[in-house]
Amino acid sequence: MKDIVQAYAKNMLPQIGLIKQNLPPQTQIPRYTDGRASKGHVPNPKCKNIYMSNRAFAQIYCETQDKAKKETGGLLLGHFWENDWYIIESGDPGYNGIFHHAYHESDEKYVNHVCAILSRIYKHPLHFLGMWHRHPGQLDTFSGTDDCTNKKYAKNAGNGCISLLVNKDPDFRLTAYYVDDRFENSLAYTKTDIIFGDEHVSCQNINEIATQSDIDRR
Ligand SMILES: [Zn+2]
Repeated sequence: MKDIVQAYAKNMLPQIGLIKQNLPPQTQIPRYTDGRASKGHVPNPKCKNIYMSNRAFAQIYCETQDKAKKETGGLLLGHFWENDWYIIESGDPGYNGIFHHAYHESDEKYVNHVCAILSRIYKHPLHFLGMWHRHPGQLDTFSGTDDCTNKKYAKNAGNGCISLLVNKDPDFRLTAYYVDDRFENSLAYTKTDIIFGDEHVSCQNINEIATQSDIDRR
């Protein structure tokens, strides 16, 4: 997985946009904040909204239904632009993944392969944005292992990352966090609105499929 993360991170500079902000230093950082504008809270300035394509949602839903009682997960691919994040594609952990009730490990070779082939069919090849995974019961916060993965992904992506949690308690529930890694010793997780639907991920043609000439020009 490391390869694809680094490859995407390298390409992260703006074709669509890398937004860097010099935010004021903070001394006391709460681990979790609720930044959902829909709940009347203030979003993290680096992640106002997360938009998700129908396809990315369907993939997460199918994979979760398929492994009904086990943890599973995958990567998220898309773009970020003007502090909004657009998830265009999501992945699964692969045929040789390891699945337990509260733990899973992806098949890294498979994940690297699938991310690369999904990305290349778009006019603007997709970037690595983060990960999603299922949690048991009502647990919709992160474990120490999750922290390590989130930290690594936020660092590699270069502008924080997105980390989604799926619960079935008993209904399907998706919680989105923006992972802010700009603080020395801790991660700051901001719960963020997810806005679903292809109509929301079509700005700047970011979900446009590449034409033959687009591909020939690469
Ligand atoms: Zn977890």
